[in-house]
This record gives sequence, structure tokens and C-alpha cells, in this order.
Amino acid sequence: MPKRNLRIVKQDVPIIGICEACNAQFKSFNVDEAERVVTAQFDSHECKSLGASQAAVRIVREATSMTHKRKLWLWIAFWTALAIVTVLMWPWDWAGW
Ligand SMILES: [Zn+2]
Repeated sequence: MPKRNLRIVKQDVPIIGICEACNAQFKSFNVDEAERVVTAQFDSHECKSLGASQAAVRIVREATSMTHKRKLWLWIAFWTALAIVTVLMWPWDWAGW
């Protein structure tokens, strides 16, 4: 079960809640009760499989964050490797090669 979040858009009537997992929308015209009503609808809905565009957005988002993380690890790995090579090269140099 994917983690799902409810995003409530409050700027207008009807108040709209959007499930960030499956993009389902929940509406309430009752401004005072909107958050409760929308949350109740959200809680009782079954997440449908992702639409293609929503899935693409998620994949891109995950790929972007993963790439950022991977860049960081590559950066660390690069400098670690450089440090190791330097340490290994030092006595080799010192031995007069
Ligand atoms: Zn959902």
C-alpha cells in the first residue's frame, strides 16, 4: 500500500481535497465542514491505480531525488577514492619509483 497524503485546496468553493497517491478528488460545498467531509471521503476511498501522467510525475520526482543522492555519493566516492589512491601512491613514490 503506497503512502498517501491528502492535499486540500481551499482557495475556492467547492473545497477540493486531492489524494496525492492516486489523484482522486473529493469535494465539499460546505465550507465550515469542508475539511472534515473531505478528510472522511479521503479516509474511506480506495486508491485507484495511478493514471499514466501521475505515475510519470512520481517517477520523475523519485528519479530526480535519487539522482541528487547518487550525485552526492559519487562525489563522496570520488574524493574517497582519490584519498585512497594518494595514500597508496605515497609510499610507492617514496620508494623511489
Ligand atoms: Zn488515493
